[in-house]
Parts: sequence; structure tokens; C-alpha cells
Amino acid sequence: MQANALIMKEGMIELPKMRIDIFTLFPAMFLGPLQESILKRAQQRGTLSIILHQIRDYALDRHQMTDDLPYGGGQGMVMKPEPIFGAIRSTIGTTGTPIILLSPQGRTFTQAIAQELAQQPRIAFLCGHYEGVDERVRQHLVTEELSIGDYVLTGGELAAMVIVDAVARFIPGVLGAASGAHDDSYTSGLLEGPQYTRPAIFEDWSVPEVLRSGNHAKIARWQRKMSLKRTLERRPDLLAGEALSPQDQQLLEEIQQDLGEPDEVG
Ligand code: SAM
Repeated sequence: MQANALIMKEGMIELPKMRIDIFTLFPAMFLGPLQESILKRAQQRGTLSIILHQIRDYALDRHQMTDDLPYGGGQGMVMKPEPIFGAIRSTIGTTGTPIILLSPQGRTFTQAIAQELAQQPRIAFLCGHYEGVDERVRQHLVTEELSIGDYVLTGGELAAMVIVDAVARFIPGVLGAASGAHDDSYTSGLLEGPQYTRPAIFEDWSVPEVLRSGNHAKIARWQRKMSLKRTLERRPDLLAGEALSPQDQQLLEEIQQDLGEPDEVG
């Protein structure tokens, strides 16, 4: 059974829990994002437990040094291995928990990776800072390196927050609704189509008639068509990797025809 599947217990559904350990020199950076909105509620409900660990608490010398000059010269400071090994070994032990180093050199984070990580009962993040961590941490401690994109941040803290947020959305119970993140862009393989709320008419702009029709089959068809259209326009690369049904092919043909005409599709 997947670790994060719903667990049936004496006729009741118990929501799975995920524990996330974050190792950082700047735990206060997390306080705003983790204490608001959906992540705050998930922690209050006990669906998600996020524990911040100050790496400096594991420094061995009396000045509690966590970084030092790089061997071979060069700019900036490198995070020392001893406090990091000490912090992670004493917290994670031999639990087999994935230890993820945030790094601009890692595998690029995606929605699919978020979904995979959400299956784990526990994950740990190590945030680099300054010029990064001593190479021996990467070689002998971490199990994976993730990047949030091809640019360089001052530290791994913001990257960890991005990943924690995206992963949390896949933990059952975090988003509330049963469907959760499954209709979102990238989860389905396509981009989500446009969404509307009240009022039906704002200034001169109306919500498309079909969405107000109450005809669920027609609404579903329109939503699928808009999702295909948006993906075709903005991310045609995603369509190339999708197994499209005959109905999707038909909708794409309609979209191509509509695009040749002056009116809005729909
Ligand atoms: N000297 C490193 C290099 O060139 O690869 C960059 C170090 S960066 C200034 C400091 C820390 O920020 C990294 O150790 C990493 O933890 C984090 N970081 C920076 N950019 C990141 C990104 N795109 N994704 C994830 N973490 C990142």
C-alpha cells in the first residue's frame, strides 16, 4: 500500500499525515508562509507537520561557525559539513527519509515530482546558503537535489517553501475538496481553462453562456475544449506528450477552425 493512501481504521477514514523536516540557517524566513492560509490550516488539522531545524544548533565550535572559506580560493563562504551531518543524522537517523538538497544544479522541480513526494510519509529539505554546501554533504548525505528553475537564489529557503507548498496540495485533506489538485494545470497534463465567478456580467463582460446553462455534459465539453485551446496557445509542447482521445482530437479540430474565424471560441 502506498504510504500516503487513505488508511481505513475501525470503519473510519483516517487522513494520512506527512512530516516535513527543514534544515536551515534562517528558520524565521519560513514563519510567514507557513503560518497563513492553507498550510496553516493543514498543520492545525494535523494533516501536515512541518518542523524547522536550526543548523547552527549543531555547530561544534564555541563560535557556532556554520560556514568557512572555500578551499582553493574564490568568493563567498561554503557551509561546513559537520553541523549539517550532525543536524540531519540526529533528526532523521536511519528512517530512510528522502533528504533533498535545494540546489540550482538539481533536477528541475515539476508538478509530477510534487505528486511523487506527496506519497512519502516524511521528507527532509536541506537549504544551502552563501556559495552552497560542502561537496561531501551532497555526496554522502543527501539523496536527491532539486532546483526550482534555471536561476540562482541567495538561499534554498524560498525554494523549499515553493516545493513544500506544491507538495502539500497533493496531501489528501489539505485542499479540502476530494478532487484537490487533480484539475489543476500540469496535473492533468494540460493547462486549466479560464474560470469565472459572480457577477455574471461585470462592466460589459459576460460569463460564457454555457457555464450558466446548468447542462453538465456541455459544461464539461466546453471546459475540456478551453483547456486544450489554452495549452495549444501557450504550451504546445505539453500537447505533444499527451495521449489525446478521439474526442480531444475532434475538439482540437474545432479549435483550429474557430481560430480561423474572428469570434471567440466557445
Ligand atoms: N554557488 C552555487 C552554484 O553556482 O551552483 C549557488 C549557491 S546559491 C547562491 C546558495 C543556495 O541557494 C544553494 O546552495 C541552494 O540551496 C539555493 N538555491 C539557489 N538557487 C536555487 C534554485 N534555483 N533552486 C533551488 N535552490 C537554489
